[in-house]
Amino acid sequence: MAFVEFKDVTKYYQMGEVRIAAADGVTFSIEKGEFVIIVGPSGAGKTTVLNMLGGMDTCSGGSIELDGALISGYNSRQLTAYRRYDVGFVFQFYNLVQNLTALENVELASEICREPLPAEEVLREVGLTERMNNFPAQLSGGEQQRVAIARALAKNPKLLLCDEPTGALDYKTGKNILQLLQDTCRNTGRTVVVITHNQAFSAIADRVIRINSGKVVDMRCNPSPASAQ
Ligand code: ADP
Ligand code: ADP
Repeated sequence: MAFVEFKDVTKYYQMGEVRIAAADGVTFSIEKGEFVIIVGPSGAGKTTVLNMLGGMDTCSGGSIELDGALISGYNSRQLTAYRRYDVGFVFQFYNLVQNLTALENVELASEICREPLPAEEVLREVGLTERMNNFPAQLSGGEQQRVAIARALAKNPKLLLCDEPTGALDYKTGKNILQLLQDTCRNTGRTVVVITHNQAFSAIADRVIRINSGKVVDMRCNPSPASAQ
């Protein structure tokens, strides 16, 4: 069985008389250690899928499994623990605490988890050793996103989920962030899933899942570096 299994997952929103199918029979799997990119137009259902995978939202039907555990069967207490211990999140906006330094922001996250990685170690991993005593306002957008990634990694999560992490960055800075996420995946064997609407970034993914109108319309695996040699 694959590390992540979505089977016929649906998510409906009732808006008055109208029922919106944000996810409409979504089926895909992800292997452990893969670097996965989810692409698709605005409103396609990408965030809905990522939020259900991260336990931030529940599905209306179907099943979601991670590492053999049935996430879609969790009650709210189990979901809270799952979000806290098993999943790291990165968003478009960095949501850093402004009056704490980069190091303190990462340490804050470590405090709530069971087996945190040392804050200085993850800041080194994202290339911010020189900047760890700076406050967010003293850092560029790309650097602030690196702090946010370090903060997510400090939890030592099974899964790193990133929703448009490059959305607020210029192309070059965004590309570097994607590269960093890929490196993290390669170097630590962590499974990383990234939503982006920038097609150009999908070339570096192991797996590209294309979503449109709540459905998976295409899934493509790129040759792994090992098999390409
Ligand atoms: P994407 O991330 O691809 O832009 P979303 O997953 O955010 O798409 O949204 C998919 C669809 O579900 C859209 O039509 C959106 O308007 C709808 N939707 C998302 N969240 C809600 C909500 N809380 N209530 C009602 N409709 C929602
Ligand atoms: P980017 O090209 O990523 O947007 P900037 O041009 O904003 O980067 O910043 C370039 C460098 O200057 C970065 O290393 C950043 O940390 C530093 N920097 C930006 N603003 C400040 C500040 N207010 N105080 C100290 N360093 C800063």
